[in-house]
Amino acid sequence: MGSYAKPESTLVLDPTSTEYERYRTRIYNARHPDRKPVEIVVPLTTTDVTSAVKRAKEKGLKVGVRSGGHLFAAPAVIEQGLLIDVKFLNKDIQYDPVSQILTFSPGHTVEELAGHCGKIGRFFPYGHSRTVGAGGFLLTGGQGLFCRGHGYTYESWVTQIEVVTPNGEVVIANKTDNHDLFWAAGGCGQGFFGVLTRVWGRTDRLRKLFDTTYVLDSTDHFKPLLKWAIELAERIPKQQVDYFIGTMYADGQGLGDDESRAKRVLMLINITIGCDSIEEAKTLAAPLDTLPEEFRKIVVSQIPMQEREFEALWDLQDKFIPGGNGERYRVESVLVGFDASDDEIVDKAEAALLKLPTRKATGALAIVDSRPDENIQALSLPSRLMISSMVCYQDPSLDAKMDKWALDTYTEIEKLGLGQHAGDFDVNQRVSKIMTDSALTKWLKIREKYDPDEMFIGYRGFQKSLERKWNR
Ligand SMILES: Cc1cc2nc3c(=O)[nH]c(=O)nc-3n(C[C@H](O)[C@H](O)[C@H](O)COP(=O)(O)OP(=O)(O)OC[C@H]3O[C@@H](n4cnc5c(N)ncnc54)[C@H](O)[C@@H]3O)c2cc1C
Repeated sequence: MGSYAKPESTLVLDPTSTEYERYRTRIYNARHPDRKPVEIVVPLTTTDVTSAVKRAKEKGLKVGVRSGGHLFAAPAVIEQGLLIDVKFLNKDIQYDPVSQILTFSPGHTVEELAGHCGKIGRFFPYGHSRTVGAGGFLLTGGQGLFCRGHGYTYESWVTQIEVVTPNGEVVIANKTDNHDLFWAAGGCGQGFFGVLTRVWGRTDRLRKLFDTTYVLDSTDHFKPLLKWAIELAERIPKQQVDYFIGTMYADGQGLGDDESRAKRVLMLINITIGCDSIEEAKTLAAPLDTLPEEFRKIVVSQIPMQEREFEALWDLQDKFIPGGNGERYRVESVLVGFDASDDEIVDKAEAALLKLPTRKATGALAIVDSRPDENIQALSLPSRLMISSMVCYQDPSLDAKMDKWALDTYTEIEKLGLGQHAGDFDVNQRVSKIMTDSALTKWLKIREKYDPDEMFIGYRGFQKSLERKWNR
């Protein structure tokens, strides 16, 4: 995505401006859309945002908002619309030691938040990749660090938000003031009908970070190994412990063409822990040592429990979902609830995690273990786990083929239930649920109240999900 120098004042770019194309394509996925906004605004303050929104209203422009640029479908880039890129908005981070509340910008990345929190010895559960933006991440609900224990980040950590509404008004929303707006923001992702300009979140004390990983050649043992790994989640403590199962080809890393020569698929079983000592970390991860003998013989490597800097964790994530070198993506995911059996999950997951269509494609089964409370925020699908495929490749001529692979594969997997993480939703690919029908019905009424003239159009696909018959 390149580096961008902070401008001295708000940028207002039109298609003839030198910086226009760089900002239009500030997107993680190299499959940049052809869509061209008439104007791109890079605001520094909330007042700059209100001016941009009022201008859009006068001109009747649809508005898209971008924070980190990580949503693969890039819906913020709207043909003939106005793009507000909040990368440099309100970029001061404040911490109040009495309330222990952190105030930050939606434009802050994981790396920036972690850097600040590290200096003051505090923890806030941002995402796992250094460049994800706080804005898009929190609007999806946010599967942050140690989500298994404390739920989605918006649900249990965000206390207040500042929003510029389609009228150009600055509104503060929390659990008592403008509660409908606060409720609607958490979990609607690209559907949000305003510009999130500031966030307040509670913090916890910062603990050390540890992780351990088994890498196994799963090619010929996929189903029994995955079943064991899913069952193991029940024995791994939830608090302060992330549990992740990933798949990739043995030759999946580095530059090169899109076909795997190795054809061997590795399964990574990783446990990441936030605690105070390596002894405590080893105790929390002890169930992993019960790996049965039949799987020990397919262990390719084992990374023993070790203390990590965040930097090292992000480096691993960058290898798993690389960006910045022309990597194109088709990403799909399904949230699986609590009523599918382990056998059903394993059967369906095989197509997404083992039969990866390109050399650099990766699969993931993340244990989410979350039953979000629909009274607290729009995010509402009870999710035991999430199955996803990050289909990465370089050759643009593969776009249609990869879209079809993902559509066919996930149309089958979605029979397991529920819906999709809002951070992967692509209306042009597959329309699935990102919240329960009752939450969505309530959410649509709130949207109508704040944005009757439909300045923000990202929600349109959600509405279609109400009309779909669901298999489970
Ligand atoms: C490499 C990688 C790693 C990831 N890791 C995680 C993870 O660990 N946990 C997790 O939960 N998700 C993760 N995701 C998914 C990610 O959280 C979502 O795609 C999220 O939407 C990205 O936010 P963003 O601000 O970077 O993206 P953007 O593309 O900038 O924003 C996404 C959408 O959110 C809306 N939006 C963004 N900012 C604002 C704003 N200020 N006001 C109003 N609307 C706004 C817009 O509709 C926009 O189209 C990851 C994605 C990638 C590519």
